Amino acid sequence: MSASANPKFLFVTGGVVSSLGKGIACASLGLLLKSRGLSVTIMKCDPYINVDPGTMSPYQHGEVYVTEDGAETDLDLGHYERFIDENMSQMNNVTTGQIYFDVISKERRGDYLGATVQVIPHITDEIKLRIDMLARQSNADIVIVEVGGTVGDIESLPFLEAIRQYCIEHRQDCLTMHLTLLPYIRSAGEIKTKPTQHSVMRLREIGIQPDFLFCRSEHHIDEATRKKIALFCSVDPDAVIEATDAQTIYEVPLQLAEQKLDEQIIKRLNLKGAPAKLAPLESVVKKIKDPEKRVSIAICGKYTRLKDAYKSIIESLVHAGVANNSAVDIKWVNSEDVEHSDNPGSFFEDVHGILVPYGFDFRGIEGKLIAVRHARENNIPFFGICLGLQCAVIEFARNVCGIENANSAEFDKDAADPVIHIMESQRSIKQKGGTMRLGTYPCVTTPDTLARKMYGSEIIIERHRHRYEVNNDYRNVLEENGMILSGLSPDGNLVEIIELKDHPFFVGCQFHPELKSRIVRPHPIFVHFVEAALTHQG
Ligand code: GLN
Repeated sequence: MSASANPKFLFVTGGVVSSLGKGIACASLGLLLKSRGLSVTIMKCDPYINVDPGTMSPYQHGEVYVTEDGAETDLDLGHYERFIDENMSQMNNVTTGQIYFDVISKERRGDYLGATVQVIPHITDEIKLRIDMLARQSNADIVIVEVGGTVGDIESLPFLEAIRQYCIEHRQDCLTMHLTLLPYIRSAGEIKTKPTQHSVMRLREIGIQPDFLFCRSEHHIDEATRKKIALFCSVDPDAVIEATDAQTIYEVPLQLAEQKLDEQIIKRLNLKGAPAKLAPLESVVKKIKDPEKRVSIAICGKYTRLKDAYKSIIESLVHAGVANNSAVDIKWVNSEDVEHSDNPGSFFEDVHGILVPYGFDFRGIEGKLIAVRHARENNIPFFGICLGLQCAVIEFARNVCGIENANSAEFDKDAADPVIHIMESQRSIKQKGGTMRLGTYPCVTTPDTLARKMYGSEIIIERHRHRYEVNNDYRNVLEENGMILSGLSPDGNLVEIIELKDHPFFVGCQFHPELKSRIVRPHPIFVHFVEAALTHQG
């Protein structure tokens, strides 16, 4: 990134309802501005009191996205990375928990001696400091700041107040955009603007006048409605941006470019932008909307009720599909259903590949083991990620090596044969938050293996989030029976990738490749997995 002496800021807030896709909106805008030659970074402010989402259930929060530097962050950071193709860091995700933690630590240290420590100014100052720090560290021309939650939430008030102050203190350098919903009332055949008006009113009460409105809508906004929204909300008609439901999220930057949102931002912030280069994205979108082929992959996990738990895996499959000119249809298979079924094979009859994703704890494990066995015995392409690798090792140990009681110490701490056991470095850890093996570690791929072929390089760098690993005491017996340890930590101590001899595609990895797949750079394991599924389909 080029150094920016005068960074600009775009603050993005949400209104009316949650889940409008603020993360995608910010990521899309980031992509658009970057395509015009500007350097961009994005910060997510999460109003909850957890220091990070690492201790939350996937059902509460969806996927925990791990950055290169090992921060456990909001899944929106995954969208940011995938769209703008820049690595985020722990600086890009700020939570109320972190802000209070820092302010209370400073108070104990005596930094505020003599003062009563209050939400305003101490908490708001700390938020502003975090924005300044990210701007400095990233050297970005534009820092986009997304505030989680919806205007009116008690929790997000300090963030909004900090933004209000920031905009006054850096008047020339800041813009704000508010995301709203324009509901369509079928019986009246009309788009309704009142919730948007109320939401903007709420924002104005706090002292923020939005410069742009990003309106989610099922239907096209006609000119009269656009003018009405502009008039009531005090924005330019051109600044009312319509975002109708897109067939693919990768189309959103194109929708925004059509409405010249990037151009308006660049002009208002007095920046210089080159013409947007969107041809690569246009070609991706075309391939997603009009695929030559379709292939079906089963994801067998236990968080299948909330697809957000597997966000990066879903997107990585989309990217790998594009690389193979194919759509990838995901069949969600709940591992507990497999476990309790009399005919588990029926879940996989119509799929061409089976993916067992990450996970924690023993619930649904036996179902995942059945899925692995089914893939192994029927030559169906298999891809195991983190817990998925661990399941593959347990299944192989039990059913191929004949180690009947093989298990993970995570599921049975007194297991007779803990083929998966706790990592040495994890043994003494008592505190749960932020203490897994997190972030990037190098891995050495073994020559003449599928892993080496897929990556095309000896040293690879991948991101991790786990406490358990393959128990080295069982390496020999696994290898003797045909398991290939195709990726190891540089000291040779940790098994990072496994594969099987005599199987068209059977790969497990201890790391999370889904965290590094980008639209423009699909991850090689996903690309080869989808390719193998297409071959299996015939
Ligand atoms: N629960 C396993 C571990 O901690 C796997 C973690 C994961 O799948 N991310 O090692």
